Formats: sequence, structure tokens, C-alpha cells
Amino acid sequence: MLILELQNVSKSFGALRVTDDVTFAVPEGEALGVIGPNGAGKSTLFNLIAGTIRPEAGAIRFAGRNVTSEPPMTRCQRGVGRTFQIPQPFEQLTVFENLLVAAAFGSRKREREVTDSCAEILVETGLFSRANQLAGALGLLQRKRLELARALATDPKLLLLDEIAGGLTEAECHSLVETIRGLRRRGVSIIWIEHVLHALNAVVDRLLVLNFGRVIGVGKPEAIMASREVREVYVGIDV
Ligand code: ADP
Ligand code: MG
Repeated sequence: MLILELQNVSKSFGALRVTDDVTFAVPEGEALGVIGPNGAGKSTLFNLIAGTIRPEAGAIRFAGRNVTSEPPMTRCQRGVGRTFQIPQPFEQLTVFENLLVAAAFGSRKREREVTDSCAEILVETGLFSRANQLAGALGLLQRKRLELARALATDPKLLLLDEIAGGLTEAECHSLVETIRGLRRRGVSIIWIEHVLHALNAVVDRLLVLNFGRVIGVGKPEAIMASREVREVYVGIDV
């Protein structure tokens, strides 16, 4: 089964076409990496999938259902979980409370299951010792962890990760990769936007490359990284 399908999806901001006739599908259980230069439209793609913006054309299907006109909360409750490139916690709530809010509003869990599952997620994401700190007092790395934890608290079937590895140390990056692999083993489908290619390639089945809002390649990482067009547009890779 396909967990996600985008069909001819387009979105412009003024004269700028940020998502240009994008079509791709993600089979259930797959991890898909998304790469592309800054401004290519990667985060916009997540906003379209999560529902915070609507496309002008095209259709988005989640688990077989057309969700194109559904609001973000409905999609979240159906199982679309996402992190934001710029972390967006409730600053005045504690780390644990942030997870409770995410679980209470975004997951399909019953109230008495929520506390236990949130505690587990704190352990899994390395935030247990920070449980009672205000989110607003966290540094950037802990904020990124909290972003992942909040997304997990919504109990996603499809997890959208937007550049969560940038700025991590090697050890932290390794532990993040292990965490994400663990999610895959539990059957969560993943789309991961990332500039840290070695982390991405350690996890994903396929890579999708965006440039100026268009998909210029999708396939096995080795094939994609070997493609001339991809190497030419992708910042940081020598042709
Ligand atoms: P990426 O994540 O690949 O770096 P984005 O999807 O964030 O790229 O942005 C793609 C382009 O769309 C950029 O030029 C950005 O400035 C523009 N953009 C993104 N969101 C908005 C918005 N809400 N209003 C106007 N322009 C936007
Ligand atoms: Mg972005």
C-alpha cells in the first residue's frame, strides 16, 4: 500500500513557483530522503503534506484517502507527524507538557495511555533528564530533540523530518540515526529532508532531489548521487 501520494502538486508564492508539478509516492514502511539546495522548496513540500498550506493544483493522498483539503490537525490525527526546521515548541510549557499536548491533540491514544507513551518517548529521544525544564530554556540541540519527540508523541504513521541532524556532533548524529532506524523497525514511514548526507544515506531506501520546486531525480541513493544533473545542482558536491 502507498502511505503517501502526491499527484501534480503545485504551489506559488506570488510569482515564485515553489512547488512545480510534483508527483511521487511513498510505499508504506519506506524511508525517503529529500535533498536539494536552499530554497528548492523542501520545507514547503512538508507544509503541503502536513496541510499548513494548500496547493493551487494537484492532489495529496494519505493512506489511500484524498486529504488535499483537510486541515493540519485532521491529517495529524490520521497519522501525519512532522517536525519544523525551526523548532516550534510551546516555550512556556515543560518538555513533558509539550509532549502531552502533542499526544492529547494529535494521537489516537486514549488519555490514560498518553503519560506512559510520552515518558517512553522522552527516554528514546534522550530528553528524560530535561522532562521538567521549560522548553523555552532549551538550547538548539535539545530543541531539535524535542521537535522529534513532539512529532513522535502524535503517534505518526508517516514522519516528516525537516533537517534535524544539522549541528549535531558525530556521536549525537549516530544516536539520531539509531533512533530513526528503530522507528522504521516499528513500521513508521519516513520522509527526511537533510543536508547531512551520510546520516541520510544510513537510513533511507530512496532519495528524491528537488531543484527550483521540481523533482529532478528519485531513486536508489547510489544512482541518485551518481547522476550528473543531481551533482551539478546539488550544493556541496564536486562535479
Ligand atoms: P527549502 O526548505 O528547500 O530551503 P522552502 O520550501 O523553505 O525551501 O522555500 C522555498 C522558497 O519559497 C524560498 O524562496 C522561500 O523564500 C519561499 N517561501 C517559503 N515559504 C514562503 C511563504 N510562506 N511566503 C513566501 N515565500 C515563501
Ligand atoms: Mg527548509
